[in-house]
Amino acid sequence: MLRIFIILVCGLSLLSLTAFEYSAEEDWGFYAHRKLNRLAVFTLPPQMMPLFKVEIEYLSAHAVDPDRRRYATPHEGPRHFIDLDVYGDYPYDDLPRNWNEALAKFSAIYLLNTCERAGGIDTVLLYFPYIHFDEEVLKEGNAYGNFDDMLDLNYQRFFNQRVPRDFYRAPWSYSLDEWSELDSLYPDLNGGCATIFIENHISKYGIIPYYLPILQRNLTRAMKHGDKARILRHAADIGHYIGDAHVPLHTTVNYNGQLTGQEGIHAFWESRIPELFAEEFDLIVGRAEYIENKEEFFWDVVMDTHLKVDSVLTIEQYLRETYPEDAQICFDDRTFQTIQQPCREFALAYEREMNGMVERQMRKTIFAIGSAWYTAWVDAGQPELGDASVVDSSHLIESDSLMRIYRRGSIYGREHLNN
Ligand SMILES: [Zn+2]
Repeated sequence: MLRIFIILVCGLSLLSLTAFEYSAEEDWGFYAHRKLNRLAVFTLPPQMMPLFKVEIEYLSAHAVDPDRRRYATPHEGPRHFIDLDVYGDYPYDDLPRNWNEALAKFSAIYLLNTCERAGGIDTVLLYFPYIHFDEEVLKEGNAYGNFDDMLDLNYQRFFNQRVPRDFYRAPWSYSLDEWSELDSLYPDLNGGCATIFIENHISKYGIIPYYLPILQRNLTRAMKHGDKARILRHAADIGHYIGDAHVPLHTTVNYNGQLTGQEGIHAFWESRIPELFAEEFDLIVGRAEYIENKEEFFWDVVMDTHLKVDSVLTIEQYLRETYPEDAQICFDDRTFQTIQQPCREFALAYEREMNGMVERQMRKTIFAIGSAWYTAWVDAGQPELGDASVVDSSHLIESDSLMRIYRRGSIYGREHLNN
């Protein structure tokens, strides 16, 4: 009896693990992320090979760590995408390219009266950012105030000195006394009776172009310190996010075609097509190049990727309507379940109709990853990587614990895949 029970339990957990592992694949698919990091190594100069070529298996295997981290922390999800279209129309001039400015502009500001004795006001909404998607689609009508009025009160300086430092310690609240220009407008609220309350409204729409330069700095710093373990960890990480930045559906609020009846398109584009055809793609790109202006480079990547969203969606829509219906979805027998996926020929038609877009984006990604790695090495003064001696094993411990959390399931934030 006990034996039967054990067999049953083992069988069940194996089943659920397999089903879960498949559904958790996302972001270019694990397969593509690993391949992109691996091929980026071959764009590097010989001096970098003693570390990067020797550790190519590490760089490839850990290309998917950032996706696993999404199961560990709610801060991780927004680093993988940006819903640019919530900010109006291309080229989204209303969206500051500087993180502190963008975070300030797309956060709400409240003034809270925290003492009964101070008469007159309760809670005052000073500013609520206008976000197209929120206001037009959700019709919440929350936008309030003018950000320029806040700037006139020297808000940016007040903000920069506090919020970025407290980013991971929300909620952000500060005494009114700390913002002297606003304080002077509310003489009744003196004596610590009021709190400025600031509420983040930008992170939920993704932050990838703001996060990439931070990673670039981390990698450069690790190179300067000759810290082999950190170099590898940051290099594998930035490879992942650069990969995500080249996926058009990572730059739109309609990220899985859910607003246009095209659910499943995310996995179709970024997992199914590479898994079927990447071996046939021409993915040999030239040598890595030095990136002069990092912020600008990563923004250019994201904007260029975003311009492809329209083709990705309209071409799939067109094919769904014109391609023989019974040849679109095929059944694939896996060990424990049958999976419905776009058929090989249908996927090929999609990639062809997009003029080889997936292949082109993979080539661009490989070149960009190599260039980011190479640029960090140059900025660090071209250190000898062969005898990099400082080794910190904390990254290995993190990888193990990430794997455990990932197996346990339950992701924070957005689930890109639904099949
Ligand atoms: Zn990702």
